[in-house]
Amino acid sequence: MPSTAPPTGLALEPGIPICQTDLPLDWYSEALRPYAEEYLALPDRTPESVLPWLDRYVLPAQEHFGDTLLLLAHFYMGGEIVKLVERYGGAVADSYALALQAARHPEKRVIVESAVHFMAEAVAILAADDQQVWITNPKAGCTMEMLAKDHMVFPVADQLEERYGDELLVVAYMNTSGRLKSLAGRTGGAVCTSSNAHKVVAWARAQNKKILFVPDQHLGRNTADKLGMDLERLVTLPDPARHGAGYTLDDGTIEGGTDALDAAEMILWGSYCGVHTVFTEAMVEYWKERDWRVLVHPESPLEVVRAAHGSGSTHYLWQAVLQAPAGSRLVIGTEGHFVRNAQAAGASRGVQIMHLADVPDEGFGASGCGCATMSRNDPPHLAGTLDLLRRGEAPDLHRVLPGDSVDEASGARDRLSEAERAELVGHAKLSLERMIAITEGP
Ligand code: SF4
Repeated sequence: MPSTAPPTGLALEPGIPICQTDLPLDWYSEALRPYAEEYLALPDRTPESVLPWLDRYVLPAQEHFGDTLLLLAHFYMGGEIVKLVERYGGAVADSYALALQAARHPEKRVIVESAVHFMAEAVAILAADDQQVWITNPKAGCTMEMLAKDHMVFPVADQLEERYGDELLVVAYMNTSGRLKSLAGRTGGAVCTSSNAHKVVAWARAQNKKILFVPDQHLGRNTADKLGMDLERLVTLPDPARHGAGYTLDDGTIEGGTDALDAAEMILWGSYCGVHTVFTEAMVEYWKERDWRVLVHPESPLEVVRAAHGSGSTHYLWQAVLQAPAGSRLVIGTEGHFVRNAQAAGASRGVQIMHLADVPDEGFGASGCGCATMSRNDPPHLAGTLDLLRRGEAPDLHRVLPGDSVDEASGARDRLSEAERAELVGHAKLSLERMIAITEGP
Protein backbone atom coordinates (compact mmCIF):
# COMPACT_ATOMS: atom_id res chain seq x y z
CA MET A 1 0.00 0.00 0.00
CA PRO A 2 1.57 3.32 -1.02
CA SER A 3 1.98 5.82 1.78
CA THR A 4 -0.86 8.31 1.37
CA ALA A 5 -3.63 8.54 3.91
CA PRO A 6 -4.21 5.46 6.03
CA PRO A 7 -6.82 3.13 4.49
CA THR A 8 -10.33 4.45 4.97
CA GLY A 9 -11.44 1.06 6.29
CA LEU A 10 -14.72 1.45 4.43
CA ALA A 11 -16.25 -1.87 3.45
CA LEU A 12 -18.69 -2.80 0.71
CA GLU A 13 -21.97 -3.82 2.25
CA PRO A 14 -23.46 -7.16 1.19
CA GLY A 15 -26.74 -6.81 -0.67
CA ILE A 16 -26.38 -3.04 -1.31
CA PRO A 17 -25.98 -2.07 -5.00
CA ILE A 18 -22.47 -0.83 -5.77
CA CYS A 19 -23.13 1.88 -8.29
CA GLN A 20 -25.95 4.30 -7.57
CA THR A 21 -25.84 6.21 -10.81
CA ASP A 22 -25.52 4.03 -13.87
CA LEU A 23 -24.26 5.96 -16.85
CA PRO A 24 -26.02 5.60 -20.19
CA LEU A 25 -24.10 3.38 -22.62
CA ASP A 26 -23.19 6.26 -24.91
CA TRP A 27 -21.10 7.71 -22.06
CA TYR A 28 -18.53 4.97 -22.61
CA SER A 29 -15.89 5.15 -25.29
CA GLU A 30 -16.21 2.47 -27.96
CA ALA A 31 -13.47 0.36 -26.40
CA LEU A 32 -15.10 0.51 -22.96
CA ARG A 33 -18.66 -0.21 -24.09
CA PRO A 34 -18.44 -4.05 -23.97
CA TYR A 35 -17.40 -3.84 -20.31
CA ALA A 36 -20.29 -1.48 -19.56
CA GLU A 37 -22.75 -3.82 -21.29
CA GLU A 38 -21.54 -6.75 -19.20
CA TYR A 39 -21.71 -4.69 -16.03
CA LEU A 40 -25.21 -3.39 -16.70
CA ALA A 41 -26.37 -6.94 -17.38
CA LEU A 42 -25.29 -8.14 -13.92
CA PRO A 43 -28.46 -9.14 -12.06
CA ASP A 44 -28.41 -6.64 -9.19
CA ARG A 45 -24.95 -5.05 -9.12
CA THR A 46 -24.44 -5.84 -5.43
CA PRO A 47 -20.93 -6.81 -4.21
CA GLU A 48 -21.94 -10.47 -4.60
CA SER A 49 -22.25 -10.08 -8.38
CA VAL A 50 -19.91 -7.14 -9.11
CA LEU A 51 -16.81 -8.33 -7.27
CA PRO A 52 -16.41 -11.68 -9.09
CA TRP A 53 -17.00 -9.82 -12.37
CA LEU A 54 -14.39 -7.17 -11.52
CA ASP A 55 -11.92 -9.84 -10.34
CA ARG A 56 -12.01 -11.36 -13.83
CA TYR A 57 -10.39 -8.20 -15.20
CA VAL A 58 -8.52 -6.59 -12.31
CA LEU A 59 -6.68 -9.66 -10.98
CA PRO A 60 -5.09 -10.68 -14.33
CA ALA A 61 -3.97 -7.05 -14.81
CA GLN A 62 -2.44 -7.01 -11.32
CA GLU A 63 -0.68 -10.27 -12.02
CA HIS A 64 0.55 -8.99 -15.38
CA PHE A 65 1.98 -5.70 -14.07
CA GLY A 66 2.94 -6.94 -10.60
CA ASP A 67 4.38 -4.29 -8.30
CA THR A 68 4.67 -1.77 -11.11
CA LEU A 69 0.91 -1.09 -11.11
CA LEU A 70 -0.55 1.62 -8.88
CA LEU A 71 -4.27 2.30 -8.53
CA LEU A 72 -5.37 5.68 -7.18
CA ALA A 73 -8.68 7.30 -6.24
CA HIS A 74 -9.77 10.57 -4.66
CA PHE A 75 -11.91 10.78 -1.51
CA TYR A 76 -14.76 12.37 -3.52
CA MET A 77 -15.35 9.38 -5.76
CA GLY A 78 -18.86 8.08 -5.95
CA GLY A 79 -20.17 4.66 -6.93
CA GLU A 80 -18.10 2.98 -4.22
CA ILE A 81 -14.93 3.34 -6.26
CA VAL A 82 -13.03 4.36 -3.13
CA LYS A 83 -13.84 1.01 -1.56
CA LEU A 84 -13.08 -0.92 -4.74
CA VAL A 85 -9.70 0.77 -5.28
CA GLU A 86 -8.77 0.05 -1.68
CA ARG A 87 -9.93 -3.54 -2.02
CA TYR A 88 -7.39 -4.00 -4.83
CA GLY A 89 -4.57 -2.47 -2.75
CA GLY A 90 -4.73 1.01 -4.26
CA ALA A 91 -4.44 4.32 -2.45
CA VAL A 92 -7.14 6.88 -1.66
CA ALA A 93 -6.08 10.42 -0.87
CA ASP A 94 -6.71 14.12 -1.35
CA SER A 95 -5.35 15.93 -4.40
CA TYR A 96 -2.07 16.93 -2.70
CA ALA A 97 -1.13 13.38 -1.73
CA LEU A 98 -2.28 12.04 -5.10
CA ALA A 99 -0.03 14.46 -7.00
CA LEU A 100 3.04 13.12 -5.19
CA GLN A 101 2.38 9.45 -5.96
CA ALA A 102 4.51 9.01 -9.07
CA ALA A 103 7.47 10.89 -7.61
CA ARG A 104 7.27 9.03 -4.29
CA HIS A 105 6.95 5.60 -5.93
CA PRO A 106 9.44 5.42 -8.81
CA GLU A 107 8.94 1.64 -8.97
CA LYS A 108 5.36 2.20 -10.17
CA ARG A 109 5.34 2.36 -13.97
CA VAL A 110 1.65 2.11 -14.74
CA ILE A 111 -0.46 4.50 -12.68
CA VAL A 112 -4.22 4.27 -13.14
CA GLU A 113 -6.29 6.99 -11.56
CA SER A 114 -10.04 6.97 -10.87
CA ALA A 115 -10.52 10.71 -10.44
CA VAL A 116 -10.82 13.87 -12.53
CA HIS A 117 -8.37 14.95 -15.19
CA PHE A 118 -6.44 17.68 -13.34
CA MET A 119 -5.52 15.20 -10.60
CA ALA A 120 -4.16 12.64 -13.06
CA GLU A 121 -2.31 15.39 -14.94
CA ALA A 122 -0.61 16.60 -11.74
CA VAL A 123 0.68 13.05 -11.21
CA ALA A 124 1.91 13.02 -14.83
CA ILE A 125 3.78 16.32 -14.43
CA LEU A 126 5.81 14.91 -11.54
CA ALA A 127 6.24 11.48 -13.14
CA ALA A 128 9.53 10.19 -14.55
CA ASP A 129 9.84 9.31 -18.25
CA ASP A 130 9.30 5.61 -17.56
CA GLN A 131 6.06 6.14 -15.62
CA GLN A 132 2.77 6.20 -17.51
CA VAL A 133 -0.38 7.80 -16.13
CA TRP A 134 -3.85 6.68 -17.22
CA ILE A 135 -7.32 7.88 -16.29
CA THR A 136 -10.22 5.43 -16.21
CA ASN A 137 -12.70 7.91 -17.73
CA PRO A 138 -11.30 10.72 -19.91
CA LYS A 139 -14.64 12.56 -19.66
CA ALA A 140 -14.22 13.08 -15.91
CA GLY A 141 -13.46 16.77 -15.48
CA CYS A 142 -13.82 19.35 -12.75
CA THR A 143 -16.38 22.09 -13.41
CA MET A 144 -14.27 24.63 -11.52
CA GLU A 145 -11.34 23.85 -13.81
CA MET A 146 -13.61 23.91 -16.85
CA LEU A 147 -14.36 27.58 -16.04
CA ALA A 148 -10.64 28.36 -16.11
CA LYS A 149 -9.38 26.81 -19.33
CA ASP A 150 -6.15 28.25 -20.70
CA HIS A 151 -7.97 29.96 -23.57
CA MET A 152 -10.01 31.84 -20.93
CA VAL A 153 -7.25 32.69 -18.45
CA PHE A 154 -4.26 33.39 -20.70
CA PRO A 155 -5.69 36.48 -22.46
CA VAL A 156 -6.45 38.02 -19.05
CA ALA A 157 -3.08 37.00 -17.60
CA ASP A 158 -1.38 38.56 -20.64
CA GLN A 159 -3.08 41.89 -19.91
CA LEU A 160 -2.08 41.69 -16.25
CA GLU A 161 1.53 40.86 -17.15
CA GLU A 162 1.59 43.77 -19.55
CA ARG A 163 0.27 46.09 -16.84
CA TYR A 164 2.32 44.84 -13.87
CA GLY A 165 5.32 43.05 -15.41
CA ASP A 166 7.42 41.03 -12.95
CA GLU A 167 5.32 42.27 -10.07
CA LEU A 168 2.63 39.73 -11.04
CA LEU A 169 2.82 36.23 -9.56
CA VAL A 170 0.28 33.48 -10.27
CA VAL A 171 -0.85 31.06 -7.57
CA ALA A 172 -2.66 28.12 -9.15
CA TYR A 173 -4.94 25.93 -7.04
CA MET A 174 -4.38 22.24 -7.71
CA ASN A 175 -7.75 22.24 -9.56
CA THR A 176 -6.18 23.64 -12.71
CA SER A 177 -4.80 22.22 -15.91
CA GLY A 178 -1.06 21.72 -16.39
CA ARG A 179 -1.13 24.72 -18.70
CA LEU A 180 -2.17 26.98 -15.80
CA LYS A 181 0.31 25.35 -13.43
CA SER A 182 2.92 26.16 -16.03
CA LEU A 183 1.78 29.80 -16.06
CA ALA A 184 2.25 29.85 -12.28
CA GLY A 185 5.74 28.41 -12.59
CA ARG A 186 6.73 30.85 -15.33
CA THR A 187 5.67 33.88 -13.24
CA GLY A 188 7.64 32.69 -10.20
CA GLY A 189 4.48 31.37 -8.54
CA ALA A 190 3.40 28.07 -7.09
CA VAL A 191 0.57 25.58 -6.95
CA CYS A 192 -1.49 25.32 -3.77
CA THR A 193 -4.13 22.99 -2.33
CA SER A 194 -6.88 23.75 0.14
CA SER A 195 -4.61 22.53 2.94
CA ASN A 196 -1.64 24.77 2.14
CA ALA A 197 -3.15 27.79 0.30
CA HIS A 198 -2.49 30.05 3.32
CA LYS A 199 1.21 29.07 3.32
CA VAL A 200 1.60 29.61 -0.42
CA VAL A 201 -0.19 32.99 -0.42
CA ALA A 202 1.84 34.11 2.63
CA TRP A 203 5.00 33.11 0.75
CA ALA A 204 3.90 35.17 -2.29
CA ARG A 205 3.00 38.18 -0.12
CA ALA A 206 6.40 38.08 1.55
CA GLN A 207 7.84 38.85 -1.89
CA ASN A 208 5.57 41.92 -2.25
CA LYS A 209 3.97 40.49 -5.35
CA LYS A 210 0.58 41.20 -6.85
CA ILE A 211 -1.09 37.79 -6.81
CA LEU A 212 -3.37 36.37 -9.47
CA PHE A 213 -5.16 33.48 -7.72
CA VAL A 214 -6.72 30.91 -10.08
CA PRO A 215 -9.31 29.46 -10.39
CA ASP A 216 -11.43 29.34 -7.20
CA GLN A 217 -12.54 32.77 -6.00
CA HIS A 218 -13.88 31.31 -2.73
CA LEU A 219 -10.67 29.55 -1.71
CA GLY A 220 -8.76 32.73 -2.63
CA ARG A 221 -11.06 34.93 -0.54
CA ASN A 222 -11.11 32.52 2.42
CA THR A 223 -7.34 32.28 2.32
CA ALA A 224 -7.03 36.08 2.36
CA ASP A 225 -9.43 36.19 5.32
CA LYS A 226 -7.48 33.50 7.17
CA LEU A 227 -4.28 35.51 6.68
CA GLY A 228 -5.94 38.72 7.92
CA MET A 229 -5.52 40.46 4.56
CA ASP A 230 -7.54 43.58 3.79
CA LEU A 231 -10.47 42.16 1.80
CA GLU A 232 -11.02 45.61 0.26
CA ARG A 233 -7.80 44.94 -1.62
CA LEU A 234 -9.16 41.86 -3.38
CA VAL A 235 -10.59 42.14 -6.87
CA THR A 236 -12.79 39.33 -8.22
CA LEU A 237 -12.71 38.98 -11.99
CA PRO A 238 -16.02 38.44 -13.87
CA ASP A 239 -17.91 35.13 -13.66
CA PRO A 240 -16.32 33.05 -16.44
CA ALA A 241 -19.60 31.20 -17.01
CA ARG A 242 -21.04 34.49 -18.28
CA HIS A 243 -18.00 36.28 -19.71
CA GLY A 244 -16.04 33.30 -21.07
CA ALA A 245 -12.87 34.26 -22.83
CA GLY A 246 -11.59 37.39 -24.42
CA TYR A 247 -12.70 40.32 -22.28
CA THR A 248 -10.67 43.46 -21.79
CA LEU A 249 -9.68 44.51 -18.29
CA ASP A 250 -11.17 47.99 -18.05
CA ASP A 251 -13.56 50.09 -15.98
CA GLY A 252 -16.52 48.33 -17.63
CA THR A 253 -15.54 44.76 -16.73
CA ILE A 254 -13.81 45.18 -13.36
CA GLU A 255 -15.80 46.04 -10.27
CA GLY A 256 -14.17 49.21 -8.96
CA GLY A 257 -12.44 49.69 -12.30
CA THR A 258 -8.75 49.66 -13.05
CA ASP A 259 -8.06 51.78 -9.93
CA ALA A 260 -9.24 48.83 -7.83
CA LEU A 261 -7.09 46.50 -9.92
CA ASP A 262 -4.02 48.69 -9.36
CA ALA A 263 -4.67 48.84 -5.62
CA ALA A 264 -5.37 45.10 -5.31
CA GLU A 265 -3.05 42.83 -3.40
CA MET A 266 -4.73 39.75 -4.84
CA ILE A 267 -6.83 39.29 -7.98
CA LEU A 268 -9.22 36.35 -7.91
CA TRP A 269 -10.22 34.46 -11.04
CA GLY A 270 -14.05 34.18 -10.91
CA SER A 271 -14.48 30.39 -10.98
CA TYR A 272 -16.16 28.27 -8.29
CA CYS A 273 -17.36 24.76 -7.50
CA GLY A 274 -21.09 24.21 -7.90
CA VAL A 275 -21.03 21.53 -5.20
CA HIS A 276 -19.70 23.93 -2.55
CA THR A 277 -21.44 27.17 -3.51
CA VAL A 278 -24.91 25.85 -2.58
CA PHE A 279 -23.99 26.27 1.09
CA THR A 280 -25.37 29.26 2.99
CA GLU A 281 -24.72 30.87 6.34
CA ALA A 282 -28.36 30.09 7.31
CA MET A 283 -27.63 26.36 6.91
CA VAL A 284 -24.65 26.65 9.25
CA GLU A 285 -26.75 28.55 11.83
CA TYR A 286 -29.56 25.97 11.61
CA TRP A 287 -27.24 23.15 12.69
CA LYS A 288 -25.32 25.21 15.25
CA GLU A 289 -28.56 26.19 16.98
CA ARG A 290 -29.24 22.46 17.42
CA ASP A 291 -25.79 21.79 18.91
CA TRP A 292 -24.13 20.18 15.91
CA ARG A 293 -20.47 20.91 15.21
CA VAL A 294 -20.14 22.33 11.68
CA LEU A 295 -17.02 21.85 9.55
CA VAL A 296 -16.78 23.03 5.94
CA HIS A 297 -14.43 22.96 2.99
CA PRO A 298 -12.87 26.34 2.06
CA GLU A 299 -14.31 26.18 -1.47
CA SER A 300 -17.50 27.34 0.30
CA PRO A 301 -18.48 31.04 0.37
CA LEU A 302 -16.73 33.29 2.92
CA GLU A 303 -19.78 33.81 5.16
CA VAL A 304 -20.23 30.02 5.42
CA VAL A 305 -16.61 29.48 6.42
CA ARG A 306 -16.75 32.33 8.92
CA ALA A 307 -19.94 30.97 10.54
CA ALA A 308 -18.70 27.34 10.76
CA HIS A 309 -16.77 25.94 13.72
CA GLY A 310 -13.90 25.00 11.44
CA SER A 311 -12.83 24.69 7.81
CA GLY A 312 -10.18 22.74 5.98
CA SER A 313 -9.24 20.34 3.23
CA THR A 314 -10.71 16.88 2.66
CA HIS A 315 -7.83 15.48 4.72
CA TYR A 316 -8.74 17.81 7.60
CA LEU A 317 -12.41 16.83 7.35
CA TRP A 318 -11.62 13.12 7.22
CA GLN A 319 -9.36 13.38 10.27
CA ALA A 320 -12.15 15.21 12.13
CA VAL A 321 -14.46 12.28 11.39
CA LEU A 322 -11.90 9.71 12.55
CA GLN A 323 -11.08 11.64 15.72
CA ALA A 324 -14.63 12.61 16.74
CA PRO A 325 -15.46 11.09 20.12
CA ALA A 326 -18.27 8.55 20.32
CA GLY A 327 -21.66 10.23 20.64
CA SER A 328 -20.61 13.44 18.87
CA ARG A 329 -22.62 15.07 16.09
CA LEU A 330 -20.86 16.52 13.08
CA VAL A 331 -22.20 18.43 10.10
CA ILE A 332 -19.91 18.52 7.09
CA GLY A 333 -20.12 20.96 4.22
CA THR A 334 -18.41 19.37 1.24
CA GLU A 335 -18.94 16.93 -1.60
CA GLY A 336 -21.80 14.44 -1.06
CA HIS A 337 -20.00 11.13 -1.66
CA PHE A 338 -17.34 12.14 0.85
CA VAL A 339 -20.03 12.87 3.44
CA ARG A 340 -21.71 9.53 2.78
CA ASN A 341 -18.41 7.71 3.26
CA ALA A 342 -17.84 9.78 6.42
CA GLN A 343 -21.28 8.75 7.70
CA ALA A 344 -20.35 5.09 7.23
CA ALA A 345 -16.99 5.59 8.95
CA GLY A 346 -18.57 7.48 11.85
CA ALA A 347 -21.52 5.14 12.36
CA SER A 348 -19.34 2.27 13.54
CA ARG A 349 -18.13 4.48 16.43
CA GLY A 350 -21.46 6.08 17.30
CA VAL A 351 -20.61 9.40 15.58
CA GLN A 352 -23.57 11.00 13.79
CA ILE A 353 -22.78 12.87 10.60
CA MET A 354 -25.04 15.03 8.43
CA HIS A 355 -24.49 16.89 5.18
CA LEU A 356 -24.65 20.66 5.67
CA ALA A 357 -27.21 21.15 2.90
CA ASP A 358 -29.50 18.33 4.06
CA VAL A 359 -31.47 20.62 6.35
CA PRO A 360 -34.74 18.89 7.29
CA ASP A 361 -36.77 22.01 6.57
CA GLU A 362 -38.36 22.59 3.18
CA GLY A 363 -37.67 26.30 3.43
CA PHE A 364 -34.00 25.70 2.66
CA GLY A 365 -34.67 24.10 -0.70
CA ALA A 366 -31.22 22.58 -1.30
CA SER A 367 -29.76 19.18 -0.70
CA GLY A 368 -26.21 17.90 -0.50
CA CYS A 369 -24.99 16.73 -3.88
CA GLY A 370 -21.99 14.75 -5.03
CA CYS A 371 -19.49 15.75 -7.67
CA ALA A 372 -21.22 14.45 -10.78
CA THR A 373 -18.11 14.55 -12.93
CA MET A 374 -16.00 12.49 -10.52
CA SER A 375 -18.71 9.87 -10.37
CA ARG A 376 -18.10 9.16 -14.03
CA ASN A 377 -15.37 6.77 -12.89
CA ASP A 378 -17.30 3.60 -12.24
CA PRO A 379 -16.58 -0.17 -12.12
CA PRO A 380 -16.77 -0.73 -15.91
CA HIS A 381 -14.28 2.09 -16.47
CA LEU A 382 -11.90 0.56 -13.93
CA ALA A 383 -12.28 -3.00 -15.26
CA GLY A 384 -12.07 -1.98 -18.92
CA THR A 385 -9.06 0.32 -18.56
CA LEU A 386 -7.07 -2.30 -16.65
CA ASP A 387 -8.02 -5.10 -19.03
CA LEU A 388 -7.16 -3.07 -22.13
CA LEU A 389 -3.86 -2.00 -20.57
CA ARG A 390 -2.96 -5.63 -19.88
CA ARG A 391 -3.75 -6.52 -23.47
CA GLY A 392 -1.74 -3.56 -24.76
CA GLU A 393 -4.89 -2.09 -26.33
CA ALA A 394 -5.75 0.83 -24.05
CA PRO A 395 -7.04 3.77 -26.12
CA ASP A 396 -4.78 6.79 -26.23
CA LEU A 397 -7.81 8.79 -25.03
CA HIS A 398 -7.13 7.39 -21.54
CA ARG A 399 -3.42 8.25 -21.51
CA VAL A 400 -2.65 11.41 -19.56
CA LEU A 401 0.26 13.56 -20.70
CA PRO A 402 1.20 16.94 -19.23
CA GLY A 403 -0.35 19.79 -21.19
CA ASP A 404 -3.26 17.78 -22.61
CA SER A 405 -6.32 19.99 -22.90
CA VAL A 406 -9.42 17.83 -22.59
CA ASP A 407 -12.84 18.35 -24.11
CA GLU A 408 -14.95 16.85 -21.31
CA ALA A 409 -17.93 16.30 -23.62
CA SER A 410 -16.07 13.89 -25.89
CA GLY A 411 -12.97 13.03 -23.83
CA ALA A 412 -10.80 14.13 -26.78
CA ARG A 413 -7.46 15.72 -26.05
CA ASP A 414 -5.59 18.58 -27.64
CA ARG A 415 -2.03 17.32 -27.18
CA LEU A 416 1.11 19.45 -27.23
CA SER A 417 4.14 18.67 -29.35
CA GLU A 418 7.05 17.07 -27.48
CA ALA A 419 8.97 20.34 -27.42
CA GLU A 420 5.95 22.27 -26.11
CA ARG A 421 5.33 19.59 -23.51
CA ALA A 422 8.92 19.67 -22.30
CA GLU A 423 8.70 23.44 -21.82
CA LEU A 424 5.37 23.13 -20.02
CA VAL A 425 6.65 20.39 -17.71
CA GLY A 426 9.66 22.55 -16.80
CA HIS A 427 7.48 25.41 -15.56
CA ALA A 428 4.65 23.29 -14.13
CA LYS A 429 7.06 21.08 -12.20
CA LEU A 430 8.66 24.18 -10.73
CA SER A 431 5.28 25.41 -9.49
CA LEU A 432 4.53 22.03 -7.87
CA GLU A 433 8.01 21.72 -6.39
CA ARG A 434 7.72 25.22 -4.91
CA MET A 435 4.45 24.16 -3.27
CA ILE A 436 6.10 21.04 -1.84
CA ALA A 437 9.05 23.07 -0.52
CA ILE A 438 6.73 25.68 1.03
CA THR A 439 4.50 22.98 2.57
CA GLU A 440 7.13 20.57 3.80
CA GLY A 441 10.06 22.92 4.27
CA PRO A 442 11.44 24.01 7.65
S1 SF4 B 1 -16.16 18.76 -6.15
FE1 SF4 B 1 -16.08 20.70 -7.29
S2 SF4 B 1 -13.91 21.34 -7.20
FE2 SF4 B 1 -14.00 19.14 -6.63
S3 SF4 B 1 -13.64 18.04 -8.56
FE3 SF4 B 1 -15.88 18.22 -8.32
S4 SF4 B 1 -16.40 20.12 -9.45
FE4 SF4 B 1 -14.18 20.15 -9.10
